[in-house]
Amino acid sequence: LTGRLGDIFDRLRRRGALTEEDVGAALREVRVALLEADVALPVVKSFINGVKEKAVGQEVLRSITPGQMVIKIVHDHLVEMLGEQNEGINLNAEAPVPVLMLGLQGSGKTTSTAKIARLLKTREKKKVLMASLDTRRPAAQEQLRVLGEQVDVATLPIVPGEDPVTIAQRAMRVGRLEGYDVVMLDTAGRLAIDEELMDEVVRIRDVTKPVESLLVVDAMTGQDAVTVATNFNDKVGVTGIVMTRIDGDARGGAALSMRQITGRPIKLLGTGEKIDALEAFHPDRIAGRILGMGDVLSLVEKAAETIDREEAEKLAAKMEKGNFDLDDMLSQLRQIRKMGGMGGMLSMLPGVGKIKDQLSKANIDERMLKRQEAIITSMTQKERRDIKILNASRRRRIALGSGTTVADVNRLLKQYQDMADMMRKFKKLGKKGLMRQGLSA
Ligand code: GDP
Ligand code: MG
Repeated sequence: LTGRLGDIFDRLRRRGALTEEDVGAALREVRVALLEADVALPVVKSFINGVKEKAVGQEVLRSITPGQMVIKIVHDHLVEMLGEQNEGINLNAEAPVPVLMLGLQGSGKTTSTAKIARLLKTREKKKVLMASLDTRRPAAQEQLRVLGEQVDVATLPIVPGEDPVTIAQRAMRVGRLEGYDVVMLDTAGRLAIDEELMDEVVRIRDVTKPVESLLVVDAMTGQDAVTVATNFNDKVGVTGIVMTRIDGDARGGAALSMRQITGRPIKLLGTGEKIDALEAFHPDRIAGRILGMGDVLSLVEKAAETIDREEAEKLAAKMEKGNFDLDDMLSQLRQIRKMGGMGGMLSMLPGVGKIKDQLSKANIDERMLKRQEAIITSMTQKERRDIKILNASRRRRIALGSGTTVADVNRLLKQYQDMADMMRKFKKLGKKGLMRQGLSA
């Protein structure tokens, strides 16, 4: 992908707003990349349309190519579509809280059941009971019992011949009687969606009223994702997604498909066969993987840096015009911190010899920058625009809000005042005067 995208992007070097052509050319490659990553076709289509809408007409930043701009938009849109990082299993209900595990056979339900039980036990100190409702596959119940022993989580005693709905009811009863916090119900899967499977899980759902119904899907799932997600979501109701085998070769396009189709958060990732191989979902990591990046990610980073630089330039323009308020100072402080020091930042600003001296005399360090940020963010918008209204009581409130002292607040205001004065002076002197000043300094 990278090579191909790279080529396209290099060809797009014209400046100005992104045209439909720029976007179209880049998106044709993105489309291929998504399909190669196993994103389901209808999801690819709606994703591409979403990006197109966002991208066409956007102004290309001066120092990157339109192609880089598009990839940045693609990446950001993908991260947005994948949703928040969200590892929380919702246990917000009266105990025992039923958690239903759904999915096709072999998707990793039983393994994930034990992994999640272990997580709830060790991290949230919950008393968990696991029950296997899989009466179809020989030894499925035994599999869960063995896993339970491994992670030291109780499993419902096996009663031969019992049907899944009865097991579920018994599990909830034992859960109540023996004071469990959570009852995890591991259902049977099929190789494909069928009526019988859906009927069974619907009946289990109706007798247990699960708070979470987690759809477990293999990261390898391709076009099937649409059928699986649609059926489970429409017929049973899905509250979250667990994606397994992310340790394999799969690019993980299923994550996007599942998320788009169900609208439900991806909660956890299975990262191996081992019982502790369970991780929180990070949308940016999966986005990178789906786009097949590495190189593309560094492209995105470069674009982000460029955006920072253009912000700095905008700020400089404002400074030159002489209307510099505390919000501008705040964004300047943030820039300085992001760029890890004064050198880089100042070299981007025109005509700053004097400010540089002054700031380095002020001995800027990271802690101080943070403190100054805190002070400004503790002010109201009105205060940031007009420091004249900052009387003693307001200054006290700001010091309190930012965990600093009134003296710190005063020092910051003095510094701001000096900067603003100097900028006004620059403005009056005009370009020529500025140069003369620079020479005489
Ligand atoms: P079920 O039929 O949905 O209950 O699936 P199982 O939990 O029995 O898992 C089927 C197979 O997939 C087992 O061999 C598991 O060890 C394996 N498996 C489950 N989750 C993962 C994972 O995240 N990574 C890897 N590599 N294997 C997994
Ligand atoms: Mg199973």
